[in-house]
Amino acid sequence: MARALLALTCTLLCAAPLRAQEADPVDLLVRKFDRALNAADRPALESLFGPTVTPPQIQQLEHDLLVPNAVRITVRIRDKAPLEGAPPGDGYSLIVEFFVETAGKARILTTGMDVRRPPGGVTDSWRFVATESLTSVEGLYKLRLNTARPLAAKNLEVSSEDFVLTLREGTVFHVDADDGITGLVLVGRGEMRFSPSIAAERGQLHLFSGEDVLTTPFEEAFVRFSPTDYSDRVSTSSLTPTPPQERIVRRAQDVFSRESPKSFNVDLQDLSKDTWHLLPPPQDFLAEVDTRRFDTLTFSRSSVQAEDVSLFRRKDRRTIALYPSVAKLAARGRFYSDDALREYDVLDYNIEASIDPARQTIEGRARLAIRVRATTLSTVLLRLNEGLTVTGITSLEYGRLLFLRMRSQNTVLVNLPRLLQQDSDITLVINYLGRIPSEDLDVEAVQTRSDNQETSTLSASYEPAFLLSNRALWYPQNPVPDYATGTLRINVPEGYGCVASGLPTTPSGKGAVSLRDIVAARSGKTFEFRANQPLRYLAIVVSRFSRVVESQVDVSKTVAPGSAVDHIALAVEAQPSVRQRARPSAQQAEDILKFYTSLVGDAPYPSMTLALVESDLPGGHSPGYFAVIRNPALATTQSYRGDPAAFDTFPEFFIAHELAHQWWGQAVGWKNYHEQWLSEGFAQYFAALYAQKARGDRTFVDMLRQFRRWAISESDQGPISLGYRLGVVKSDVRVFRAVVYNKGAAVLHMLRRLLGDTVFFNGLKRFYTDRRYQKAGTEDLERAFESESGRVLDRFFERWIYGTQIPRIRYSSAIAPGSVKMKFEQLGDLVFDLPVTVTVTYASGRTMDVMVPLTEAVVEKAIPTTEAVRQVQVNRDSAAVAEFEER
Ligand SMILES: [Zn+2]
Repeated sequence: MARALLALTCTLLCAAPLRAQEADPVDLLVRKFDRALNAADRPALESLFGPTVTPPQIQQLEHDLLVPNAVRITVRIRDKAPLEGAPPGDGYSLIVEFFVETAGKARILTTGMDVRRPPGGVTDSWRFVATESLTSVEGLYKLRLNTARPLAAKNLEVSSEDFVLTLREGTVFHVDADDGITGLVLVGRGEMRFSPSIAAERGQLHLFSGEDVLTTPFEEAFVRFSPTDYSDRVSTSSLTPTPPQERIVRRAQDVFSRESPKSFNVDLQDLSKDTWHLLPPPQDFLAEVDTRRFDTLTFSRSSVQAEDVSLFRRKDRRTIALYPSVAKLAARGRFYSDDALREYDVLDYNIEASIDPARQTIEGRARLAIRVRATTLSTVLLRLNEGLTVTGITSLEYGRLLFLRMRSQNTVLVNLPRLLQQDSDITLVINYLGRIPSEDLDVEAVQTRSDNQETSTLSASYEPAFLLSNRALWYPQNPVPDYATGTLRINVPEGYGCVASGLPTTPSGKGAVSLRDIVAARSGKTFEFRANQPLRYLAIVVSRFSRVVESQVDVSKTVAPGSAVDHIALAVEAQPSVRQRARPSAQQAEDILKFYTSLVGDAPYPSMTLALVESDLPGGHSPGYFAVIRNPALATTQSYRGDPAAFDTFPEFFIAHELAHQWWGQAVGWKNYHEQWLSEGFAQYFAALYAQKARGDRTFVDMLRQFRRWAISESDQGPISLGYRLGVVKSDVRVFRAVVYNKGAAVLHMLRRLLGDTVFFNGLKRFYTDRRYQKAGTEDLERAFESESGRVLDRFFERWIYGTQIPRIRYSSAIAPGSVKMKFEQLGDLVFDLPVTVTVTYASGRTMDVMVPLTEAVVEKAIPTTEAVRQVQVNRDSAAVAEFEER
């Protein structure tokens, strides 16, 4: 029997039971089976099987289902399909689910059972003619608050890593499960203390609470842990039995009923009306602490997470701290990849979908070619938007499969009929349909912020664009994002166009796709796309597009020998109102694509489609093979100044930034959220390089100035490596762009100046080539630049990527005959590596720029001069992210 132990907080949503009619022979048979099971009536049970089911098979079924002390067995038919080989209406293949419960414990079992009318038989003579072995979900428990035996506490401590709850004086109640004590309710006068071991996390805590260590009073708390951890978590010496007091018992019950359903709670829908819980695995821990000052705070230690310690506030869904425990860090090292958590790879996605953008609905079928990466695999966990209903899952190898929906986690759990070994392959076909809202542009998207509140009313009048991308979970996918090739065949109503990930191909019917019936059954128009170059995710956008421009961008002269792509098929699809923007946008895109290809020596994808949509604010989003560019219809009336990503002198910024994501973010991905700057910082820097090429040094320096200004003003909000969490504690999205985009870009520019152009661009090419179609981390980038330069760059990256300090530099200049003597002093406690431009202006008005690398606490340098010097300026180009003061 294959067993799955559900980990973490999950909610099972089972498929709706099939409504059988009163006289349905199958329903009748299953009801008889249900009655026999609940009466533990073995002869009655056995009489329901035909001769093709062997006695050992029946005994096994009885052994699994007839548990001692069972109080109830609930039986549900989950799927019913005509039985192969039987005349129509004479046989069915069922998937049946059993919920077997004792007073305190339960399990779910699932099996396939074939039923058939015996030759010449009547309605009540149907029998089970085949059964498969059962798969089960174990470990469901009822929790009981022990109000009969309260304990008086004095200075009781309940602790986990970096976290202590101290109940100075009060009452403690055990939370019992069949297997032991799994939690506590604390009522009284207490104090919570949280002291993260990691500097960046102390910084976030400081932004949240004003202190590096959070110490705050509480009066009520709810705690969960594994029964085996009780003595490690709780200092029992300070507990003594005390008689129950009604008022305190009532409070404890309130806490229990309010807090216990929030975690480790399984919603079983029609299987059981009761509340069932999972036990936290050993080492895991959860505390809901009702603090007066900060509302309820949730501390958790969850070993399945790559970063297993967290502090969270449910009220506004704010992550305050998130980091690896000491044990986790020791096990996996400082750097990690989300890939470490993956159980399988999807090698190829093949998706056929019919989309109605007006109703925002999708009917789809996805075929996933899967290779097992774990040692063994018994269940496949897929991510899929919970608004979408799965109507069936089959595998080409094993036929119809059993599955469970897990609500609130956007997941589908597929039970495999047998244990698969590492490196074996399986192909799943998933049918699904439902309503799914269009995605907004924010993750991996630049979108400026507006201070003008009226813009939201304007948006309503715009032609809608239905975007399904990396966050929509619009197709079943690997929970750990992963590179894969893909085919999309998308049907849309007449009058609509579709832009998607992949090279547009003519829907021909031949080729890889065999899933033809969904779109073939539709009127409207079908678009087909094939991605032979691996992608991180597949995306589509549907709107009233028309194709305005098509061209071939020749990049054959700048790609490295052996590159797969020597031309990029460029197309522009535009909504009617922005059609006049198509030609100038195509011109810019062509220029930008050529320029970036020349910088990297490669173009990752053979086609690029710009999808131009109208909007109140400028912005964009760039999955592989295409980019959505938002064009404000009335740019002059909208104020988006005051945003880190608003560059007045560089109107092509959005196209330039988005197209750079084809190389950075798409072709080269990031290993986890800490590495997001490899996507955004690089896209921002490439946009700046294009600004310099297209508009000259002045525009470039304008951008550097803005990078520096935002980097300095927001650096104290956290290091670049904090990724998406930047600005979360203070709810300011500008912080993310200021640090990840702008400081990230400025750091690359400083690195370039320290290493020199040749080494820098060779390092960039090396990094790209090493990591193309894979995820990357900062350490990969560092290694690439170290190999190219022969220099150790640990300190550079440590300070700029993982640190929050901004160097403060005191300098002096002394003008002597034939030279200017400069002295620089780093005032902070840390020494940074940074290049500083000294601009010497001669009496004639001529200027000379000299770069001085500061790599020690004090640097002195004599700059030779050829004429009388009128003025010496430091960091006039804003290229150094530092604060300067003249001595
Ligand atoms: Zn971006």
